[in-house]
Amino acid sequence: MTSFAEKLAADIAANGPMRLDHWMAACNAAYYAARDPFGQAGDFITSPEISQMFGELIGGWVADLWLRAGSPPARLVELGPGRGTLMADALRVASRAPGFEDSVSLALVETSPTLRAAQAGRLKANWYDALENVPTDRPTLIIANEFFDALPIRQHLGDGQERAITLSDVGFAAATIPGEGPAGESCPAATRIAAHIGARLAAQGGAALIIDYGYAGTGALDSLQALRHHASADPFADPGTADLTAHVDFTALATAAAPALAWGPVPQGVFLTRLGIEARAAMLKARADRATAAGIEAALVRLTAPTAMGVLFKALALTAPNWPAPAGFESSQP
Ligand code: SAH
Repeated sequence: MTSFAEKLAADIAANGPMRLDHWMAACNAAYYAARDPFGQAGDFITSPEISQMFGELIGGWVADLWLRAGSPPARLVELGPGRGTLMADALRVASRAPGFEDSVSLALVETSPTLRAAQAGRLKANWYDALENVPTDRPTLIIANEFFDALPIRQHLGDGQERAITLSDVGFAAATIPGEGPAGESCPAATRIAAHIGARLAAQGGAALIIDYGYAGTGALDSLQALRHHASADPFADPGTADLTAHVDFTALATAAAPALAWGPVPQGVFLTRLGIEARAAMLKARADRATAAGIEAALVRLTAPTAMGVLFKALALTAPNWPAPAGFESSQP
């Protein structure tokens, strides 16, 4: 056992089975603190790591909304920026908007020291442990890609029981403890952050763009997933060494964010197509060699095809009530 696993085992031995959200929070904190998990050599890959087009289109989305809001002094905030790839790509585009560089400062919300260091190598920013600590003096433009799926969930089993983790002969194992609520998953941390975003946008102006895998409407019963080396793993074995995620409940986020207006969610493929990913891909391919062009085409398909990330992943926008409509959500008036 690692020393982290020993700590969890000692906690369970002393206090009894550990509720799933406490387990997931501890495991993901240990997981992200110690490593850069992205890419071929890591455990999983995200949209900005698949192609520069993803961050570029988001940079265009941000700059367009900011320009139409009257180019106010503002703060661009990213939640869980990973390697900083999305933001580096986004700023290359957004900084072409007149006045953007002088008027918009960058704040990154990141708890992992390893990933903060990676971000610092590419971005000039201020870092915060939580969105609540980011100053509230100006309109805020918030970006979050695959941030909410890493937040700790509870699994309510519907019969007065809820998911927990206990010790068994072979290590850690699923157990139940007395619980509450109808059967389904909940993510108290996500709901709390969405409520904070809603209050912040209403008070300061601004918008948020949340992209993640998940659902709107019917809830998930058991979407907890562990990924190690691009393969699914047992979420209760070898704690702190796999990425733990769960489907994001977009309806819960949108509801919690009132009085901010919620747009969507729209499928990622639809959203990126509306923002012009096909034109961007054609432009990049036109000046690439054959092998590079094939890679650009493959990335386009991976990000947008319904059989890949195009439908399971979704985009939700939240806007201050007095801000303009965000691009890409044309058919989804709040
Ligand atoms: N957005 C990036 C990274 C996604 S992985 C991308 O698309 O590639 C999740 C990110 O959220 C990591 O940077 C991780 O360290 C960070 N993170 C996870 N839980 C967090 C928390 N509670 N507070 C702040 N950051 C967190």
